[in-house]
Amino acid sequence: MALAKGAATINADVVSAAFYLLSGWQEFFSVERDRHGRFPYSASVQQQYSFVALPVVNYYFDVLKTAVEHVSGQALQPRHWQGAAFASFITHDIDSLHGGWGTAIRRDLRHGKLFDAGRALLGKATGRPAPWNNLEHVQAETTRLGAPSTFFMLSSSQPAPNGTANADYKIDSSLLKRLRQLEANGAETASHGSYGTAADVTRLREEVGQYGSAGLAGNRFHYLCWEPRRTPGVVAAAGFRYDSTLGFAEHFGFRNSYCLPFYPFDFERAQAHSFLEIPLNVMDATLHHPNYLQLRPAEILPAIKPMFEEIERFGGVATVLWHNDHFDPANTTTGPHQFAEIMNDLRRRGAVFLTGRQIVAELCGR
Ligand SMILES: [Zn+2]
Repeated sequence: MALAKGAATINADVVSAAFYLLSGWQEFFSVERDRHGRFPYSASVQQQYSFVALPVVNYYFDVLKTAVEHVSGQALQPRHWQGAAFASFITHDIDSLHGGWGTAIRRDLRHGKLFDAGRALLGKATGRPAPWNNLEHVQAETTRLGAPSTFFMLSSSQPAPNGTANADYKIDSSLLKRLRQLEANGAETASHGSYGTAADVTRLREEVGQYGSAGLAGNRFHYLCWEPRRTPGVVAAAGFRYDSTLGFAEHFGFRNSYCLPFYPFDFERAQAHSFLEIPLNVMDATLHHPNYLQLRPAEILPAIKPMFEEIERFGGVATVLWHNDHFDPANTTTGPHQFAEIMNDLRRRGAVFLTGRQIVAELCGR
């Protein structure tokens, strides 16, 4: 960039470059999809040029900001989130409420706790609540660590035609009552669109209809399914205020190279969609999984700290997905301890923790 008196010359097309990444152009015009119909990280420019953990679009906008400040002689003030430099969005996708017995029994046997293993077996046999039926425990943990929880509830228990599992629970009156209680304690309930609904607005509407007339403001698709040519239209038609699906399952970072919520681009009408995308930055399963990264517990926080630093620098939103089954103490790889480490790092940086609805309200004023 060249700066002269009253003028700035930027020797690169930062607007086109920003549009390419932010609009998801590479996904829309690519035919690469994985077995869940997702655009694979391995086909992305972020992977090719190793910049998935850098919000490059924020850097481009920073160039424009510097030029505007130079020409106007006025400093542009960064966004603040209720007085904090950046925000964090702590979310839980609820795929299972009835699992966890096997994990508990294996752990007890490994530690020679035969009595506890027997008690777990008996609990399973007598229909006691399963270890992962732990929404209240998850809320207590996130509250203790200073954040409200946003629960993305999977509202279909029918497996997909290709055999992929959806929920192992049903949305019934007793679960709705529990959700109301969690909400009364500061949580938000959102939709976890079941497998297939990323391309099926009728089914997605039916799922959300189970929550009554107040509706749900936000959505994230199960398996992070997202077909760029259809899904944004589905989210808009279903009437959501926000979505939070857009992260790569295979790697933490910035799928659209941007660390703030944005209105996705509608390629058909060449204008912005009506809903906000709150990008997903890191999910528990990404960090240690046969198909994804294989970080050791002590490597997790050091690996994602630089990403949080970028979000802090640009006043963005750090979106974390920690599934309820990863609050099981039996999980010592990507479990409650690693979650607490992440939360403490975000707190130390001074993040304000908000629900999805609160983030929409901060940005849209309602
Ligand atoms: Zn899911």
